[in-house]
Amino acid sequence: MKNNEYIKPLSEANNLPNRLVYKGLICPYCGNKTEFIDSSFVYKRSYGMIYICKPCDAYVHVHKGTSKALGRLANRELREAKKEAHFHFDKIARTAQINFIWDEDVAKMNSRQKAYKWLAMQLQIPEPHCHIGMFDVDACKKVVEICLRYLKAQTDLPEGDWPEPELPY
Ligand SMILES: [Zn+2]
Repeated sequence: MKNNEYIKPLSEANNLPNRLVYKGLICPYCGNKTEFIDSSFVYKRSYGMIYICKPCDAYVHVHKGTSKALGRLANRELREAKKEAHFHFDKIARTAQINFIWDEDVAKMNSRQKAYKWLAMQLQIPEPHCHIGMFDVDACKKVVEICLRYLKAQTDLPEGDWPEPELPY
């Protein structure tokens, strides 16, 4: 697989060309430069801009109103894995659950920031590299595993009616 040439462990993500991969500027699958276009190219409506590699059917969204990529480009398999990781992680990050899981007042952090800090510790990776948008399929699977382990213990969570993650993510 060619993508291993471009994606190294997240702890080394500051090295070139890795840095360009995590900025969405280089496709991790083929190594070519990406295009910056509106996401209406891949959806029926626009969810803002994306970096895309059309031949690889891989893309990544940006932070709202910026040209800053949310991570690396993802192909269909990774997009599904990311969606599943978000589905479970959001139950912790977008609710008060993180405060039950991690009963400590972390200064100046909202639930989401605190949840990512907790996730970084669980995955044993540096915090700046701990974003689902930066993860590969294996890392996404680990997120699901970790979150389920903690969520199982909780009984007051919304089950079937929990919404699908909202784009962009
Ligand atoms: Zn490509």
